[in-house]
Amino acid sequence: MDHDHALYEHIAAKNPAEPEFHQAVAEVLEAIRPALDRDPALSAAAMLERLCEPERQLMFRVVWTDDAGRVQVNRGFRVEFSSALGPYKGGLRFHRDVTLGTVKFLAFEQIFKNALTGLGLGAGKGGSDFDPAGRSDGEIMRFCQAFMTELHRHIGPETDVPAGDIGVGSREIGYLFGQYKRLTNRYAAGTLTGKDPLLGGIPARPEATGYGTVYFLDAMLAARGESLEDRTAVVSGSGNVAFHAIAKLRALGANPVVCSDSGGYVHDPRGIDLDVLHELKVAGRSRLAEYVNHVPSARYVPGGSPWDVPAAVALPCATQNELGEQAALRLVKNDVRGVAEGANMPCTPGALQILREAGVAVGPGKAANAGGVAVSGLEMRQNAARDRWTFDRTDQQLQEIMADIHTTCLSTAEEHGVPGDYVSGANIAAFRTVAAAMDAAGY
Ligand code: GLU
Repeated sequence: MDHDHALYEHIAAKNPAEPEFHQAVAEVLEAIRPALDRDPALSAAAMLERLCEPERQLMFRVVWTDDAGRVQVNRGFRVEFSSALGPYKGGLRFHRDVTLGTVKFLAFEQIFKNALTGLGLGAGKGGSDFDPAGRSDGEIMRFCQAFMTELHRHIGPETDVPAGDIGVGSREIGYLFGQYKRLTNRYAAGTLTGKDPLLGGIPARPEATGYGTVYFLDAMLAARGESLEDRTAVVSGSGNVAFHAIAKLRALGANPVVCSDSGGYVHDPRGIDLDVLHELKVAGRSRLAEYVNHVPSARYVPGGSPWDVPAAVALPCATQNELGEQAALRLVKNDVRGVAEGANMPCTPGALQILREAGVAVGPGKAANAGGVAVSGLEMRQNAARDRWTFDRTDQQLQEIMADIHTTCLSTAEEHGVPGDYVSGANIAAFRTVAAAMDAAGY
């Protein structure tokens, strides 16, 4: 434990003012302790120190012109964290709060998540402090083009393959891809994933993260002899991940009664209406409060916490550190059976501890939300083979991958003396794979 603490202090000191990165590292250190105790060679090889140091970090200026003709300056990032298992792979996040520390924590999480998919994916993440809220389509396009003007020299199908994340969907990926094509004079479709099928994208990529999170939750419940049938669910967020998680929850017989945005949450005891949600979502800015105009029996609770609503399962699908200790205590008090992280690191360390100690099945993001990047891996395959996959083929593969990840987490946890602990199982299994690949490739 002393060694862990010293290592944590060392990494925190080397990376000042990056609290989210420190948090992600601390979680991994704690979770893989059983594996380090069993195999001292892992500590001796300084595997953790090597893993915590990104292979490369890029920061660049992005200059573009808004609709009023004003010049705008943003900062772009790409952290190429690990190529141990394949090309750097991970999304781009456009959000006003994005800093190097945010991108670094997300890229670090991606190492483990991508390893669990078994698809030969390295790890990276990127983004910008650009705030897409209220921007016109033309502004989004010009920003994406300016962003890619710098990024293009660092990426490619065998080098680094970005995708979407918060604020980046298939529209933005299309504009980024168009600019990449223009600058390189190559139709290298495998350079970006999450593309529209018109540009070589794979069907079911938009659904993949939300669907995968629910498949993982379903598997956790099944392992305990329970199911989603007729269970009440609360979901936070109302973006891409939340939307498709709600759809799959409904398809599997659960009743998702809550979703949220930054202003509050909607509680619809009859189950969230996806048509209404879709209408409010495609309208651009979040207008979730208007849900009650369409469904008068629902209520919108401004400033409320979605976790106040009693439910058998909880799916945090909004953003990091959205579910804290108070919320975890409330969930436990309401006898929650399973929590699956659709977002990256949505539970605070304190919340995770409360849930795990209470014996709740907790699917950490790096396992539970791996479906998104897994289908991105399938998109890379599709592009490399110049093939066209169907929705059903992709969904079938996604289900198999999520089932495999679930089995891996469960058996690894069992093997290391922490049965049923998906957080340890996911981190240990991924860490062992990446460490073995780094060892095999030498340093
Ligand atoms: N941004 C997603 C994630 O957090 C997907 C990344 C990808 O498809 O490369 O895993």
